[in-house]
Amino acid sequence: MNIKISEKAGFCFGVKRAMGLAWRELCEEHDKQIYALGPLIHNKQAVEKYEERGLVTADDIEEIPSDVKMIIRSHGVSKSIYDRADEKELEVVDTTCPFVKKIHDIVKENYDKGKKIILIGDKNHPEVIGINGWCNNSAIIIKTIDEAKELELDPEVDYCSVAQTTMNLEVYGNMVDILKQKSDKIDFNNTICSSTKARQEAARELASEMDCMVVIGGKHSSNTQKLVGICKEVCPTFAIETRDDLDVEEIKKYENVGITAGASTPDWIIDDIIEYLKSL
Ligand code: SF4
Repeated sequence: MNIKISEKAGFCFGVKRAMGLAWRELCEEHDKQIYALGPLIHNKQAVEKYEERGLVTADDIEEIPSDVKMIIRSHGVSKSIYDRADEKELEVVDTTCPFVKKIHDIVKENYDKGKKIILIGDKNHPEVIGINGWCNNSAIIIKTIDEAKELELDPEVDYCSVAQTTMNLEVYGNMVDILKQKSDKIDFNNTICSSTKARQEAARELASEMDCMVVIGGKHSSNTQKLVGICKEVCPTFAIETRDDLDVEEIKKYENVGITAGASTPDWIIDDIIEYLKSL
């Protein structure tokens, strides 16, 4: 079996930074319990590793007792969470990705100027929920080309548009073209993260060279699932979280196997799967 790994597989800059900051907190001497508001990343195995080290994951800030440390994950959170953390006297360890933080700033600044925010992304994704919280949860949130077509805009209103960092660039471009026809008073900010685009392009390129692809990442990780979709368009694709998910008999049929991984997949899981494939 000839195995080739995508040049852009695994942790992106923002996740690497966030996971490093969280790990440092857990390893340093600390007298306060450390909580994470929501799973640190969409990777069960990585979250378990951090929890073994003492991290407690809470789904809601109200579950977190006063006067402990609270980690804000790379997805970022709404302004109201920072306010509530202050009220509860929590020590905040903010690992929000700087690219997401920049979107918060754009949204807040334009909302304060009186503009209506158009947020292009998935309304259920934590990053989008957090961004919406910087304009008092008033953003118009659209995810699809059909939703852009159906959207009615007020010609008297000034709009500011931002995008979820993991939006598909092509879909985003089409949506922008549609919105431009509806209003000339929209200030567009392409806030899609370049690391997502680079990872997707590298995966597509590798898939075109190989007989099959293995995409490693959490089932709930949206960027991993997008990689799976891209690779499936090009060649047979195995979507797995760990080596246990691999259909060994099936993958043995292929000679050239490409590997990529989502932004929330740790190196140790990728390495483990590569070693396992080599051993087959
Ligand atoms: S994908 Fe981009 S925006 Fe999201 S955490 Fe990674 S570096 Fe930050």
